[in-house]
Amino acid sequence: MNTQTAQTVYPTFGQLKKTFLDSGYEIRLFPQHQLEQLALDAPAEVKRHLQSNIMGLIMPDEAVIGLAQELPGDEKAVTLLHELIHLYDEEMDEEDVENATLELEQSLTPAQFGFLQFLVS
Ligand SMILES: [Zn+2]
Repeated sequence: MNTQTAQTVYPTFGQLKKTFLDSGYEIRLFPQHQLEQLALDAPAEVKRHLQSNIMGLIMPDEAVIGLAQELPGDEKAVTLLHELIHLYDEEMDEEDVENATLELEQSLTPAQFGFLQFLVS
């Protein structure tokens, strides 16, 4: 009767920013083919993206967020947003991360988006 829809709570930009700054992770750009190779070598929990072209990857061992350097700047920023959501909640499944990314992307202020662009530049 009471169908419990598991309501996933999406992080805010402020929470993601804090997560990133607290994490000590650094952002590195890689050629996309190298990113794919890194993903193949990554631990199982990092292999979520293997179905699609890999544009971003979290490497916990090195505390690195890898992004494909071929992406245009705006897409790098959005891919970073996606990876930060993974960093914020490692348990969130890919579909929710995608939805959270889309939702956040639409609600970011120019200053917030500018911060992401700065990080990936
Ligand atoms: Zn993902």
